[in-house]
Amino acid sequence: MARTVHVIGAGLAGLAAAVRLVNSSVRVILHEATAMAGGRCRSYHDHATDCLIDNGNHLLLTGNHAAFAYARTIGSENRLVGPDKAEFTFFDLADHQRWTLRINDGRFPWWIFDRARRVPGTRTRDYLRLARLLSAPNRPIANIIDCNGPLYHRLLAPLLLAALNIDPREGSAALASTIIRETLARGGSACRPRIARDGLGTVLVEPALEYLETAGTPIRFSDELRALRFERNRVAGLDFGGESVELDPPDAVILAVPAYAAAGLAPGITAPTAFRAILNTHFRVDAPRSLPPLIGVLNGTAEWIFSFPGRISVTTSNADRLMNEPREALAHTIWREVCAVTGLTGERPAWQIVRERRATFAATPEENARRPQSRTAWNNLFLAGDWTDTGLPATIEGAIRSGDHAADLALSS
Ligand SMILES: Cc1cc2nc3c(=O)[nH]c(=O)nc-3n(C[C@H](O)[C@H](O)[C@H](O)COP(=O)(O)OP(=O)(O)OC[C@H]3O[C@@H](n4cnc5c(N)ncnc54)[C@H](O)[C@@H]3O)c2cc1C
Repeated sequence: MARTVHVIGAGLAGLAAAVRLVNSSVRVILHEATAMAGGRCRSYHDHATDCLIDNGNHLLLTGNHAAFAYARTIGSENRLVGPDKAEFTFFDLADHQRWTLRINDGRFPWWIFDRARRVPGTRTRDYLRLARLLSAPNRPIANIIDCNGPLYHRLLAPLLLAALNIDPREGSAALASTIIRETLARGGSACRPRIARDGLGTVLVEPALEYLETAGTPIRFSDELRALRFERNRVAGLDFGGESVELDPPDAVILAVPAYAAAGLAPGITAPTAFRAILNTHFRVDAPRSLPPLIGVLNGTAEWIFSFPGRISVTTSNADRLMNEPREALAHTIWREVCAVTGLTGERPAWQIVRERRATFAATPEENARRPQSRTAWNNLFLAGDWTDTGLPATIEGAIRSGDHAADLALSS
């Protein structure tokens, strides 16, 4: 009997799982609750700016090997673009100082010995103290390293805030460790920034849908899973509201939905219950030619400024405090900051603000400890999603690895 694997959720975890499975002997059916794929990583046309925008700027680093392997499989790797070197420009709004961090290729970090490459005001020995973060336990970062001084405020805080989406002092040091081991500690070749310049959809979503369609995979939009029907130690049926699907004994289910949705569908699983917001502000404007594709901003509401063709988009992480702020006031503040950093002047151009309230699970030690394994108490039910226990914070890389892993488990079940 041919086996069917039902993948529930067409975010990156579900897409990665489906892409992995279509090359095997099983039949795959992908079910998505909404009318579009991509989940928290999606592009769409925005009327206010008349631009194609992403729900949020997404940054990959070249060390994100699963994300690049996925893009290679679906044929879109060359649409992830960025500089040849691991260089990050920062601008401090407090004193208008600008500097560029230049991480050398190779594992030996000779950039930390070179004053022109490292963060201004830091000494080589400050960096050596970071060794403690290479293999840290699941405790707050503030318990592991000193969260004071220029190295923390000018480098670690902005990088970890972006990666963990939480005040880094409260963040899990274990999650920070994974990030640092897989990027900074591997040298510049693992730290080159990569951006989907023509939109996330054209790189990570649409090519995956085409890949699946070419392989004959049914993709069912507006097909929300309402309930799982369990029989002893397996899932025996799926309830999509209007339609029920009975599972044959060898069939399997990959539940690749957000943590809060999974907790409502699979009784008894533990999952993160606290989340953090991200705010993105988009301006329809051409960036000055000299502006790097992304620039880190200190001491502002803006934290990272991304330049796209005809658009500048600004990220603010850990943004729960801004969720109820008036949009007009936010756009005003952020446009002023963009002007200070980029040298742009003049009237504020057409703009849009996108608030993602549950952008990521809160990357605290407590929430990290609530992340479940992909295997469940049911033999044919597997979990995927950036919130499962990948060892990484909620990222594209984590979502794709979780989808790959769930697919492998479903195949071997
Ligand atoms: C604003 C923002 C900025 C970010 N920036 C970065 C970044 O710079 N770098 C980075 O690596 N990561 C970043 N991330 C994180 C990244 O987007 C996520 O980790 C990733 O997209 C999560 O994918 P997922 O498949 O696990 O979950 P989701 O994207 O949430 O996908 C779950 C899917 O399941 C569907 N679904 C839900 N319930 C059901 C149901 N009952 N039946 C069927 N379908 C269902 C949903 O509609 C959705 O499509 C950012 C996230 C946000 C929101």
